This record gives sequence, structure tokens and C-alpha cells, in this order.
Amino acid sequence: MGSGGAALEVSGLTKRYGAKRAVDGLDLVVPHGTVTAVLGPNGAGKTTTVEICEGYRRADSGTVRVLGLDPAAEAARLRPRIGVMLQSGGVYPGARAEEMLRHIASLHADPLDVTALIEGLGLDGCGRTPYRRLSGGQQQRLALAMAVVGRPELVFLDEPTAGLDPQARRATWELVRALRNDGVTAVLTTHHMDEAEELADDVAVVDGGRVVAQGSPEELCRGGAENSLRFTGRPGLDLASLLKALPDDTAAAELVPGGYRVTGTVDPQLLATVTSWCAQHGVMPDRISVERRTLEDVFLELTGKELRS
Ligand code: ATP
Repeated sequence: MGSGGAALEVSGLTKRYGAKRAVDGLDLVVPHGTVTAVLGPNGAGKTTTVEICEGYRRADSGTVRVLGLDPAAEAARLRPRIGVMLQSGGVYPGARAEEMLRHIASLHADPLDVTALIEGLGLDGCGRTPYRRLSGGQQQRLALAMAVVGRPELVFLDEPTAGLDPQARRATWELVRALRNDGVTAVLTTHHMDEAEELADDVAVVDGGRVVAQGSPEELCRGGAENSLRFTGRPGLDLASLLKALPDDTAAAELVPGGYRVTGTVDPQLLATVTSWCAQHGVMPDRISVERRTLEDVFLELTGKELRS
């Protein structure tokens, strides 16, 4: 496995379906050993992009390198090195869960421990159940197990926790973290901000067939609109005097009588300045809270759309 470079490199990718530009000049770089979450509203082009990277669809133009290989021309060399979790299907309905997993494990040189994987995903107890009799959530966890049991260098997970109960979601997250600690690179699509925040080193926001922002969750939340600090005190405080004590780019407003909001670069220094100004003016600032932008806010600002939850 190459240590330098990227595990996945997509550049200028386009794909049309008839007149519809599903992917429209998409660029994405995923470094080795990281988890990247691809977020985007319905129809943004996520699945199309991932399927091209997996070698299941042909691009119209652009370049894609997965572990240094072209997934269309070098599929046979690439397949054993990547894991793919599809949203559904790909399993014989009569196959038993554990049998299926052991079979896939036997095709790989250095598979994960099947028993530990089954237990980790809470699938013990249904190892002998035919696939068609598993619940939707169990089928999904089995699909995840099948994608990773061969210890791939890179896994593609398409909405891995959609529809799972909270416990199964946690188990899935644990597995993705364990894979990452093992050096596996993961690219996951998700509609869940908390999932991206929990798991991702990097988030790529896709809209209209291109990446409109990429960075760590912290970087994305830091950029753009400012954070704010709210507090309550007696009504009618002299905000002009407060602002004199604060950096130039700060704003302050009394939103309701006695309810204040200070907007700007909210750091420890700003908090200290506001509280010391209050102390000098005999004001007890109650209910101080710092409001940071969440990924949800960033997503809304970038795409103007809510994520389907
Ligand atoms: P979702 O979050 O809903 O899964 P997505 O971001 O994965 O969406 P894609 O499935 O890649 O989006 O779809 C991108 C666009 O291409 C959509 O407008 C979709 O309707 C269209 N599209 C996808 N597959 C096909 C196809 N086989 N034929 C025609 N249009 C398609």
C-alpha cells in the first residue's frame, strides 16, 4: 500500500443521465487512513460519484484514481483491495448470515475475525438466520460486515446507519472507528450530521454535482458566519460602552429587554472581556451561553436545503 498520496483522488468528474448533469465537475481528495463523510441533499450526485469510484458506473469525463488505480480500466486489480457496502441487495436470500460472512472471509488473505465482527455488530444470535429473514437493520449490519471482513484498504459505505436503531448505529460507529485505527480509509455518504461530526476527519459537502466545501467538521463550522454569545442582565445596558471594550468586528444587540447577543469571534478573550465589563458595571450576566455553528448550520448556508433525516 502506498503511504504517500491519496487513497482516493477525483478530479473534474462529470456524469450525465440524458439532459441531467448528475455529477458536474466534482473534485475530491481523500488521504490514506482517514474517514471522509460525503454530505449532500437528495439528488446531489453522491451515489453516482461513489458508484463511479467503485467501478460500477462509467464517468463521462474526469479522472478517478482509487488506491492509484482507474476503477473502470483496472477493476480486477482494485476489487480485492476495496470494500463496498451497498444500500441493499447483493446477498442470496437463503444464505445464512454467518455462512455468508465466513465465505467472504475465506476469499481474502488476511480477513478480520468473523466471530468478533459478528459480536461487535450485535449480530450474534442471528448467525444461522437466512438473509431474507433478517430484519432490515440486521441486513444492513451484515452488508457492512461483508464490506469490511476482507480487511480492505479502502471502504465505501453508502448511508451505513440509515434506519438503524441507536444501539446499532453506535455499534456501526465503533466498527468504523476501529477500522480507521487499523489504517483503513473510509468514504461514507450520510444524511446524518451527528454521524459526520462523530466519525469524519473530513467532510465534503456535495450540491448540484460538485463539492461546494471540504474540511474537517471544526474547519467548516469555524468558517463563514460568526459565532455568538448570549447573556441576560438588566434591561437597557449601554451597549456602545460594551462595544468599546470589544474588538472592532464585534456586534452587540439587546434582542428582548434584558436579553443580549454579542456576535463576532467568540473566543475565551471575548468571554472574559464581556464578563469583566459586566463586573465593572454591576451587572450579573445570567445564563451566558456560547452558540457555535453546527455542521447543520453550515450545510444549510451552503446548500439552502435541510438534510433529510
Ligand atoms: P440521495 O441522497 O437521494 O441518495 P444522491 O446525492 O446519491 O442522492 P444520485 O443518486 O447520485 O444522488 O443522483 C443524482 C441525480 O441523478 C439525481 O437527480 C437522480 O435523479 C439522477 N439519477 C441517478 N441515477 C440515475 C439513472 N440511472 N438514470 C437517470 N437519472 C439518474
